[in-house]
Amino acid sequence: MIEVIFSLDYEIYGDATGSLRQLILEPTESLMNLFQKWHYPLVVFVEVAELERIYQEKSDQDIEVVFNQIQELNRQGHEIALHLHPQWSGAKYQNGRWEVDLSEYNLCSLPEERIREIVSDGIKFLRFILGKSNYVPISFRAGNWLFQPTQPAARILCEYGIKIDSSVFKGGRFKIYGVDYRKASRNGFFWRFWEDVAEDDSQGQMIEIPIYTTLVPFWEMISKKRLEIEKKGQEEGKKAGLFSKLKNHLGLKYPKKLDFCRLTKTEIDEMLKEIWAVDRKSPSVLKPIVAIGHTKDLKDIDTADYFLSVLKESGLKVTTFRSIYGELISD
Ligand SMILES: [Zn+2]
Repeated sequence: MIEVIFSLDYEIYGDATGSLRQLILEPTESLMNLFQKWHYPLVVFVEVAELERIYQEKSDQDIEVVFNQIQELNRQGHEIALHLHPQWSGAKYQNGRWEVDLSEYNLCSLPEERIREIVSDGIKFLRFILGKSNYVPISFRAGNWLFQPTQPAARILCEYGIKIDSSVFKGGRFKIYGVDYRKASRNGFFWRFWEDVAEDDSQGQMIEIPIYTTLVPFWEMISKKRLEIEKKGQEEGKKAGLFSKLKNHLGLKYPKKLDFCRLTKTEIDEMLKEIWAVDRKSPSVLKPIVAIGHTKDLKDIDTADYFLSVLKESGLKVTTFRSIYGELISD
């Protein structure tokens, strides 16, 4: 039993370059139209740390339009979820330029009080954007996928009502941040966790639903489409390139994410085939499959349209973390 969750990271580049209009508003508008056409919901991981700082410094004239768009996403039934890039929290804005604080890149390695402050501010700001003082996001994704060391961050998020995390991808590894998700490959399609997000803990108070990946030889990652997206990101955002990311996996297989903005139609077909093959062996087992996309990566809406059309034809259910939560805890 497969249920697909489309998660969208709603953000500009991690080094604070790029405009809200180009990197958030326009691509999201296209995706909203697409998901409305197929009557499917999205989970939108709103990166609130950047939105709060941009709002405070009035550094982008479209910030209020972004708030309106998030409210509209909420009205249309998409799930509004919490995403935090903590390097934005202490970012400085001077002479029209942002400087993010890279010493706070990994939320989980900050002192407990600082984590609490960033999470609390993030949730407060999300409530402010939505105009709902009691809004509680049910799901979370750590910035840069860094959710280790998992405690005390998980406990703090849990205190604020977060029940599901979707930061892990099986096979993932970020050596310089000490983050290693390779042992999660042993786990099922979702699991409870507490001390370590990559470890299945039946007593854990939170649930991990990882971003779906498949392990491929690293040369398979070099599609023309991905290289173009990487090139654009580097020109505009000077972010880490594909090759520096691949260095985390030299000599190994590389985890390719089910990414509806980066993959080609052929890659999507191959990954769906693999998912269906696994499902045929255990059709009664619930298998939430998390696809990921980034507003800043959307280049061709056609591939996302194709992905949704295949799901519609095959009758697969598309859901959200909020909708699937009841099924997960009764499973
Ligand atoms: Zn992000």
